[in-house]
Amino acid sequence: MHSEGAKALESTALYGSISSRDEDALALSYFVPVPPAGHFNIRISYFIVHHPGGLQKTVKIRNIKSLSKDELAAWLIGHGQPAFRRAQIYDWLYRKWVTAFDDMRNIPTSLHNELATRFSAFSIIPIDRQTAQDGATKFLLKLSDANTIETVILHAADRYTVCISTQVGCPVQCAFCASGRHGLVRNLEPGEIVDQVIFACRHLGVRISNVVVMGMGEPLLNLHNTIAALDALCDPERMAMSARRITISTSGIPDGIRALADHGVPWNLALSLHAVTDKKRAAIIPAVWCSPLSTVLKACEYYKQTTGRVVTLEYTLIPGKNDYPEDCRGLASIATTLHAKVNVIPLSATGAHFRVPSQKQIRDFVHELQRQGAPVTIRESKGASIEAACGQLRSRDKPAGGDSEATATSGTESL
Ligand code: SF4
Repeated sequence: MHSEGAKALESTALYGSISSRDEDALALSYFVPVPPAGHFNIRISYFIVHHPGGLQKTVKIRNIKSLSKDELAAWLIGHGQPAFRRAQIYDWLYRKWVTAFDDMRNIPTSLHNELATRFSAFSIIPIDRQTAQDGATKFLLKLSDANTIETVILHAADRYTVCISTQVGCPVQCAFCASGRHGLVRNLEPGEIVDQVIFACRHLGVRISNVVVMGMGEPLLNLHNTIAALDALCDPERMAMSARRITISTSGIPDGIRALADHGVPWNLALSLHAVTDKKRAAIIPAVWCSPLSTVLKACEYYKQTTGRVVTLEYTLIPGKNDYPEDCRGLASIATTLHAKVNVIPLSATGAHFRVPSQKQIRDFVHELQRQGAPVTIRESKGASIEAACGQLRSRDKPAGGDSEATATSGTESL
């Protein structure tokens, strides 16, 4: 091992140890204890390459799960491997959830080494977690470039659901959401999105059955990578999940909704509606991202017609803002016209900018919706005691003063 390179790497290794792969590349492995699942063996996504003249350069390597099926097949053929190798690699990555190429026991060692110099097998490290009394667990996950995202595992009677992020931060910056406070840092790559599901499977030791794309970020502003990741989750050769158990939540990006529909996979779509007039909606979703409601609803109608899936309207109830009789009438009218179901989300917690609804206010609003013929459920707040609302754990890690603290919570009722 080159001692200079080792020293530089050692200074970045929080928990880790360093191993040498060959004389040109150093691979850094983290061994992070995450009870009860044991140790993660995680290779970070860069190498320091030493050139004969003594120069060093940092080479970014890709998460192998970010490659399309065709890209991986072409890479394997280009490296003289038989066609069945891809299926073997997929079996280790998506069914056995390994996080290092060394663990792929039916793959030749020479291929382990070649894969490890080009790709990472896993790209997230848990650095913080909170568990609520109801069993919801939120993880703060560090990416290979040291950015952080949140992933939440929710437990209902008969299933586990993982709530995943698609961006670091969020450009939309909804008024009640901690994820948007710092704006967008970057899009997640497909492998980083998929790895959150693999991480949840490893943590629980069981296959996750349900995924909600409701974590940090606006998925339809990272559409290409989100679709690639969800395709991997639903691909029979990879995670083999049912499309009907995956829900994508959007603040309402009409072009993205139409593109998602045209992709042709019947994922569930949830629209964060929150208000029934453009004026009120713009007070929650900043104008630059707040398309006219009529355009958003037309895109939702297109989604329903194209995929055959019922759209869910998410409505965060904010007393004094969107809980008036005319709001209720407008919401019922949209829901019945679109044949959509309404998911009322009680605003959670603590801030001064918005008030939290009482149980009576929630009940009255829901009863009135039902009376007007709208199918409606109340989202049960899972993990409220651990700040399960989107972005709060990351904000605690990266505090910023003066923002609204009232938030919409993660939930399971409609999942
Ligand atoms: S609610 Fe969703 S779209 Fe709005 S800022 Fe938060 S993460 Fe972004």
